[in-house]
Amino acid sequence: MTKRTYLDHNATSPLRDCAKEALVSVINTVGNASSIHQEGRKARAIIEKAREQVAGLVNAHPKNVIFTSGGTEANMTALSPELVAANKKADVNHIKLFISAIEHPCVLSGGRFASEDIIQLPVSGEGVVILSELSEKLGEFRKQNPETPFLVSVMLANNETGAIQPIAEIAQIVREHDGLLHTDAVQCAGKIAIDCKTLCADLLTLSAHKLGGPQGVGALVLGSGKTLIGDHLMKGGGQELNRRAGTENVAGIAAFGAAAEEAANELGRMADIAKLRDKLESELLVEAPELTIFANNVERLPNTSCIAIAGMTAETTLIALDLKGISVSSGSACSSGKVDSSHVLSAMGVEGDLLQSAIRISLGWNTTETDINQFISAWTGIYRKFKSSREAA
Ligand code: PLP
Repeated sequence: MTKRTYLDHNATSPLRDCAKEALVSVINTVGNASSIHQEGRKARAIIEKAREQVAGLVNAHPKNVIFTSGGTEANMTALSPELVAANKKADVNHIKLFISAIEHPCVLSGGRFASEDIIQLPVSGEGVVILSELSEKLGEFRKQNPETPFLVSVMLANNETGAIQPIAEIAQIVREHDGLLHTDAVQCAGKIAIDCKTLCADLLTLSAHKLGGPQGVGALVLGSGKTLIGDHLMKGGGQELNRRAGTENVAGIAAFGAAAEEAANELGRMADIAKLRDKLESELLVEAPELTIFANNVERLPNTSCIAIAGMTAETTLIALDLKGISVSSGSACSSGKVDSSHVLSAMGVEGDLLQSAIRISLGWNTTETDINQFISAWTGIYRKFKSSREAA
């Protein structure tokens, strides 16, 4: 079988060797971390080491890291009117959620907020939240509701375009109006430096499988040890300091910790990944000057490229690339399998043929120059065929 070229790290990143080793070494651990005997204490020590490793990746206090079953659960936990009410010591009624139009579907659904309490924030043509709109919307809300708390949820970077959002500025605006801020940092961890202290978000979401850890593990990171969960999504035992019930996934958590530590140590490598991504884009532009690169004029994740040639449909391109041994995606992994048009690009004002033609190439910790050359050569072949059939039509 020929070697495949995997360029879909934003969907899921292959398991790092260190994570695999941690997983295998812990899988036979007998103890329940809540037990006080020796086996239980051993499981507890494994979890606490991983908590420190994950906290280290985002410069948080380990006590503020709550392990979950993934990014989706962490987001669902954060998006709760009860959580906002508990932290602001307010009545739970009429609490509003402000979210950007480009959030991952698990945030876009609003978590535990009723749909009538969710307000969407527009983005620019480059896919970045418009700060003046946010300021205006929050100011208006505050004028009409002087006492009612609110939550703002804006991702740190978008999974489809890689556009990085101005979270520190957003945090300042949210604070001015006495709200809470959640940021979904799932796509950023291990790709850019994240410092919880300077971001000033009240809640931050991570997912292990986007940085070379296993699928099915994530974390909700609290901005402060005093942040309350309010209404638990997972009710039951007192695990995770009474903040998330359920026996911990010890092996998954250990592997998440190992991947997080390695990702933090290797952040410097992301400059090389950015060079590979830039080489890919510039070579495609030489071949096809009509190429659109989305979010090209704003700060982007170093690993992500979202591109389109109007009329060269994503579905056909993905299948043709797959047949040539190359894996990329058309957008959010959760909507692939079937190629839907992207709500992210729609929110950026992209329409028609261009909207149906966007593909996402996402590099990661094990991407090499050979992978990029393979992609360029395969894509160029597909493009040339498309161009000659267009000219013949
Ligand atoms: N948030 C973003 C931005 C994502 O890209 C994803 C996964 O695609 C998630 C959340 C969900 O994370 P998980 O797959 O760990 O549930």
